[in-house]
Amino acid sequence: MTPRAGANWVGFAAVKRAVSLEAVLRHYQLLGLRRHRDQLQGCCPIHGGHRDDSFRAHLTKNVFQCFACHARGNILDFVAAMEKCSIREAALQLQQWFGVTAPVGAPGMRWSGAAADMQNWELVRKEEGTNVPLRFALTCVQWNHPYLAQRGIDPATAAEFGVGLYPGPGLMRGRIVIPIRNARGQLVAYAGRALDGRQAPKYKLPAGFHKALELFNLQRAAVTGAKTVIVVEGYFDCMRVHQAGFPWVVALMGSSLSAAQESSLLRHFDRVVLMLDGDAAGYAASHAITARLSGRCSVKVVRVPDGSQPDQLSCSTIRQLLAVARTREPW
Ligand SMILES: [Zn+2]
Repeated sequence: MTPRAGANWVGFAAVKRAVSLEAVLRHYQLLGLRRHRDQLQGCCPIHGGHRDDSFRAHLTKNVFQCFACHARGNILDFVAAMEKCSIREAALQLQQWFGVTAPVGAPGMRWSGAAADMQNWELVRKEEGTNVPLRFALTCVQWNHPYLAQRGIDPATAAEFGVGLYPGPGLMRGRIVIPIRNARGQLVAYAGRALDGRQAPKYKLPAGFHKALELFNLQRAAVTGAKTVIVVEGYFDCMRVHQAGFPWVVALMGSSLSAAQESSLLRHFDRVVLMLDGDAAGYAASHAITARLSGRCSVKVVRVPDGSQPDQLSCSTIRQLLAVARTREPW
């Protein structure tokens, strides 16, 4: 499926607002699904398995999940999985099927009163690269390692994230390994954290893996159905915030926001709460990211105490600071 030339304005938020998951399922004539309250349940149309309870669609949250093939996400992910295409192509396809069009006055022409609305639309450029899913998973990862307790990560959180000491051979030997998944939940890399200062570098990532293409924990945050997302810098910040009761959290894996990460945030969420480190780099990044996102989604900055980072805060402090991220209502 190739997007038609000349019609390549894509508006992720506009498509998600305009089209319900139920309408998309109807488009695919998936009428055999059983209804339980606001959920549809049945055989998975993506992998085509026989189990008639593996696929669930939540109609109020507009998200789906398959317990067999692990496909999950929103309408864009669903169409991308059905059509075996990219998220951008899925958005273009949905726009075409459901008649979602860019406001008159597209950039490139002269901007008019529609300029503010137009900022939410972007021109589809050539596809960005993607990280190739790994063909293996590390086994025997020890998630009850004392290092994790020291960093305030409890065994349940470590097990959920699949984080722990890897005792086996190879690049990650003797490091705390952190699985990184793409938006579709596919394992694309492990980050290996040194246990102490004697191992360098502090973090190892496999060659060929581009962290700028992923948001750590997006696959979990996106299926909560939350419109708000909390953005932190590091893996451990992310796990601590999750543990404090906020599963809609992602990590930049650094203090800069790449173009691909920016698109991901805008595609999945309407409101962004920035909770970066309490240092010069964190403050500068908060300013820069706020400037880039403002007008395209709502942004709030939560300032952590000077000299600290979210993974060093107590759960009650995190909850206090993030009271804003609990709001279900628009800000
Ligand atoms: Zn499936």
